[in-house]
Amino acid sequence: MLEAHVITLFPDMFESFLSCSFVERAQKKQAMSVILHNLRDFTHDKHNSVDDEPFGGGPGMVLMPGPIFEAAESISESPDVESVVLMTPQGALLTQDRAAEFAQKKRIIVICGRYEGVDERVREYLVTDEVSIGDYVLAGGELPAMVFLEAISRLVPGVVGCEESTFDESHSFAMLEYPQYTRPAKFRSWKVPKVLVSGDHEGVRRWRARQSLLRTFLRRPDLLCGVQKDGFREEMRIRLTLALGDN
Ligand code: SAM
Repeated sequence: MLEAHVITLFPDMFESFLSCSFVERAQKKQAMSVILHNLRDFTHDKHNSVDDEPFGGGPGMVLMPGPIFEAAESISESPDVESVVLMTPQGALLTQDRAAEFAQKKRIIVICGRYEGVDERVREYLVTDEVSIGDYVLAGGELPAMVFLEAISRLVPGVVGCEESTFDESHSFAMLEYPQYTRPAKFRSWKVPKVLVSGDHEGVRRWRARQSLLRTFLRRPDLLCGVQKDGFREEMRIRLTLALGDN
């Protein structure tokens, strides 16, 4: 069971996310729970201030360290907080591998920044991991936190019924997934590949392996380097043999 505590100025933004996303399913299965903490609850002045001007001048406001530390410390009173994650465009990019690492944890804290970001002392003395969802800048850490939590939720043990359905997906292994089709078998003038409706299961497996290899090679050849990772070589050998045949 993963317990994710989110520190945010805008807990309302999570409402529909928590009620109809994959995270909701994970919560129902008691594999994951998301607990929201409003940063303003950890302020002590009459304006509930959470931000102030940057020392040295410059545009915008910076989230003060006090409320963030207090919020995190109120959570870490319960033991076993394994990671304090700051959502930031300066962090290491979120990948499927990183999501899988977090999915193994028991209790994490996720901090959503706003404005010009957080006081550097939060990063230096509180945060253990910095996560970016891409090389672009959003107004706040709430959407990145939702992306992060949803990516994790699909990988928490017991959430996705058949473990294989996440293993086969794009980015789980060093390849992209094969193309998918559903009914009708003929839509307008476009038919699905014959092999998929042939009933030839071995043929389908071979076609999928070939398409997966081809797609990865054409779209994301960089992913194929992932085959160097422990445990991936044998899987790649199996997939290549299937895709190309063994003679
Ligand atoms: N001034 C900061 C900088 O240049 O690095 C950007 C601050 S951004 C406007 C406000 C907040 O949005 C950040 O503190 C972070 O929590 C969140 N954020 C924006 N883009 C993000 C991204 N790509 N990944 C993760 N968090 C992001």
